[in-house]
Amino acid sequence: MKDLLRIAIQKSGRLREGSLDLLKESGLSISNGRDQLKTQASNFPVEVLFLRDDDIPQYIEDEVADVGIVGENVFVEKQRKNTLIRKLDFAKCRLSIAVPRTENFTGVFWLSGKNIATSYPVIVQHFLDKHGVQAGIHEISGSVEIAPGIGLADAICDIVSTGSTLLSNGLKEVEVVMQSEAVLIANPELQYEKQRILDSLLFRIEAVNSARNNKYILLNCPDSAIEKITSVIPGMKSPTIMPLARKGWSSLHSVVNENDFWEKIGQLKSFGAEGILVIPIEKMIA
Ligand code: ATP
Ligand code: ZN
Repeated sequence: MKDLLRIAIQKSGRLREGSLDLLKESGLSISNGRDQLKTQASNFPVEVLFLRDDDIPQYIEDEVADVGIVGENVFVEKQRKNTLIRKLDFAKCRLSIAVPRTENFTGVFWLSGKNIATSYPVIVQHFLDKHGVQAGIHEISGSVEIAPGIGLADAICDIVSTGSTLLSNGLKEVEVVMQSEAVLIANPELQYEKQRILDSLLFRIEAVNSARNNKYILLNCPDSAIEKITSVIPGMKSPTIMPLARKGWSSLHSVVNENDFWEKIGQLKSFGAEGILVIPIEKMIA
């Protein structure tokens, strides 16, 4: 039988769509019925397993799956025999300590002798050890944010993205314990064939993520501005320059990173760029 790389992704929850989108944009043709437990890509040697995210590190250690997509928080918490292959740039959130809004939190030492409710006891213990603070950890698996209100704990450590859940439970965020995003993890000792499949998948993921972070940019500029504009948007190697029918003017094509996009547009305009078009890129291979 031909080797398949078995990829475990979250069955339902915040990671599911992002994980499926990434695999599909990487060119894998996968059908994804809600109730399916597994499915095989029709055009790539990959089988996708749909599992609870918390179980994925263990399944990889047990060699039921070869690689998986989980939150970095889950990867760190579970301490399984998994290698972090790559951060995936979605499902960004942070794990924070929160306390009742009325408390006068003076610093991590405030937690001494207190009780912290969390679904991440390992991560919280590391954090406390790092700061030399001794506190009790009360592990609960869900609805952590109600713990202080019902007298179960003095503080919590939970995932925060906007803070609105905290607010509605009378809590305030006081310390960030870790930043997290979706990550690709793998069995550290993949067989040769599986490793080769993973390598070609990684090549595709790289192309998808670079494309997501970059835009294709076209603009018109006076020839005298080409040099300055090139220094702002050098592109992958250097911009493409084409003469316009109008004498003394050119069309310049390049690639710009999403993160410093707005700042650069301002600069380009100040150099005399006009008619600026910005277009999404589907795949980008350096
Ligand atoms: P269950 O195991 O019951 O499905 P869960 O809390 O583990 O619940 P999700 O809420 O889907 O599952 O979260 C999965 C992962 O998504 C988390 O481990 C975290 O890495 C990430 N995540 C969670 N909340 C957010 C958020 N608000 N914004 C971005 N990413 C988040
Ligand atoms: Zn979970």
